[in-house]
Amino acid sequence: MDIDFGCTMCGNCCHDLRLPLTVAEALAWLGRGNEVQILCEALPWPEEPAADNLQAAHKRRRSFAAMSGSLPTRIVVILTGAFAGACPNLQADMRCRIYEERPFVCRIYPAEINPFIQLEPANKGCPPEAWTPGLAPLMRAGQLVDATTVDLIARSRAADAADVPVKQRLCALLGIDVAALANEGFVVHSPSREALLAALREVSAVGSGDVLAEERSPSAAAPVWRFVSNRRATVDALVSVGALGDCVDGGGEAAFEYLGFFPAVG
Ligand code: SF4
Ligand code: SF4
Repeated sequence: MDIDFGCTMCGNCCHDLRLPLTVAEALAWLGRGNEVQILCEALPWPEEPAADNLQAAHKRRRSFAAMSGSLPTRIVVILTGAFAGACPNLQADMRCRIYEERPFVCRIYPAEINPFIQLEPANKGCPPEAWTPGLAPLMRAGQLVDATTVDLIARSRAADAADVPVKQRLCALLGIDVAALANEGFVVHSPSREALLAALREVSAVGSGDVLAEERSPSAAAPVWRFVSNRRATVDALVSVGALGDCVDGGGEAAFEYLGFFPAVG
C-alpha cells in the first residue's frame, strides 16, 4: 500500500482525546495546568512466551511484572492527557500552542506507533484531501518512508520502554493496583493534578535499580493487582486460574472509572 499525506490543519485530531504521554510529557502537561489520567490494563502472563513471539516481546517491553493472586501478570500503564472537546493547547486558528514541545503522539499522527497496527486512512480523522496522491510520501509498499516519522516512532517506543519502572513506582506510590483485562477495556485512575504532579516528580527523581530488581522477580511483598471487568464470564475465568477479580457495573465507582470496550454482561 502506498500512501501520500499532507496535513490540512483541520484540527480533528486535537479533540476529545486521551492522548498517550511519556512521563516527561506528562510532567510538562501537568505543569501547564492540565489533567492527566492513568490507564491500566493487565495481561495474564502464566509463562514466558517463545523468544520469537514479537507481539509478546512488544507487550513485555512496555509492561512490568506483577502478581494477581497466584497468577503472574504484566501491567501496562498509560499516562494520558485527557480532554473533552478541543485540546487545551489548540488555538482558535487550529494551530498548536505548544507546537515545538507537542507530544510524540501528536507529531507521529496519523502514522501508527504500535508496530502491529497497519495505518488505515479510513480510521483516521484526517479529511480525504489530506490523503491526495502526490503529497509527501508517507508509506510505500506498506512501509513508512517518511524519515522524520520513522525516527519519532523509534524514540517514542524507546521512551515507552524506559518509562516502565517509573510508572511501576508511580502506581506503588499512589496505591494503584486495579487494572482491566487487556483488550477488554481500561481502568482509569484520576488522581488530582496536584497529587499526580507531586508523585510523578518524586518517582522520576528516584533511581530505578530497586524497581528493576523487583521487576525481574516480583516478590510476595510486591503490590498484588486485581482485575476488574464488566463481564462476569471474564471475572470467573480469571478467578478460575488463580487471579483476583471483581465485576464493575460499567458506571464506575469512587476509586476509578471502568472504560469497557464491550457491553456489560452480568
Ligand atoms: S498538543 Fe497540540 S497537536 Fe497535540 S492534540 Fe493538543 S493542540 Fe493538537
Ligand atoms: S486530523 Fe489529520 S489533517 Fe487534520 S489536523 Fe490532524 S493530522 Fe492534520
